Amino acid sequence: MNHLLGAHTSIAGGVDKAVDLANKLGFAAMQIFSKNNNRWNTKPLSEEEINSFKTKLEKSKIKFVVVHDSYLINLCAADKSILKKSREAFIDELFRCGQLGVKYLNFHPGAHGGKGEEEGIKVIAESLNIIHENTPNLNVSSMLELTAGQGTAIGCRFEQIKNIIDLVDDKQRMSVCIDTSHIFAAGYDIKTRANYKKVIKEFDDIIGLAKLKCIHMNDSKKPLGSRVDRHEHIGKGFIGKEGFSNIMNDKKLEHVPKILETPKGKKQLEDKKNIRTLKSLIQKRQNRN
Ligand code: ZN
Ligand code: MN
Ligand code: MN
Repeated sequence: MNHLLGAHTSIAGGVDKAVDLANKLGFAAMQIFSKNNNRWNTKPLSEEEINSFKTKLEKSKIKFVVVHDSYLINLCAADKSILKKSREAFIDELFRCGQLGVKYLNFHPGAHGGKGEEEGIKVIAESLNIIHENTPNLNVSSMLELTAGQGTAIGCRFEQIKNIIDLVDDKQRMSVCIDTSHIFAAGYDIKTRANYKKVIKEFDDIIGLAKLKCIHMNDSKKPLGSRVDRHEHIGKGFIGKEGFSNIMNDKKLEHVPKILETPKGKKQLEDKKNIRTLKSLIQKRQNRN
């Protein structure tokens, strides 16, 4: 069993510094922002930064990298100017991924702000079609993240993710990320073994496990179905070690990179501890069913 485990890693000092830190912490997978995630406009990546990132990554033990998009982007924003800005910013994010050689851009589908779910889904798909048309030669996958369904956030049901992908012309460019704390808060019980199996089967039936390219491994500070998005250290929340043991011992998800987005300090030593906890949950083969 060789899980690709890692965490969201700080880019303080430059994107290449994230590689240094992730490698030092022993990560096999890493998530980063490619820019300040609370700003619309940031300067382009410099040639130097790009080259340094790529060289360091090649020399590292990191096998999987995903970029998380800016929190400002909303691909179904009701405000026309924010929608336009969001689409432009998403194209820029895809472009930056391309420059860095990163194959996945993870993003939250969007918040419909009162227009309703159906309209929101339509606009998200329309946004993605425009975005893909404007980036025809980029080999970067648009990765939809399941959400907790806070407020008017879309993406808290597998059906909503499927409906978005159905309306996207270039389905090859779409992939999906499960966030454990989000789906748990959205009402998917991955804690108990029997229910966990049902949830994964449901995902496979509706979206298809082939589309699942990443899992955000976060315990939840809030209970099942609360629809509140609060991440907790592995084993310390409502999902508990029991729930993460289900994932760590699921052969079907063994190859899917697993990334922590749990609370951390500057040195990210908490991530090391959470990875140790996850590894400790892996059962020897004879004990598994
Ligand atoms: Zn996210
Ligand atoms: Mn997440
Ligand atoms: Mn979250």
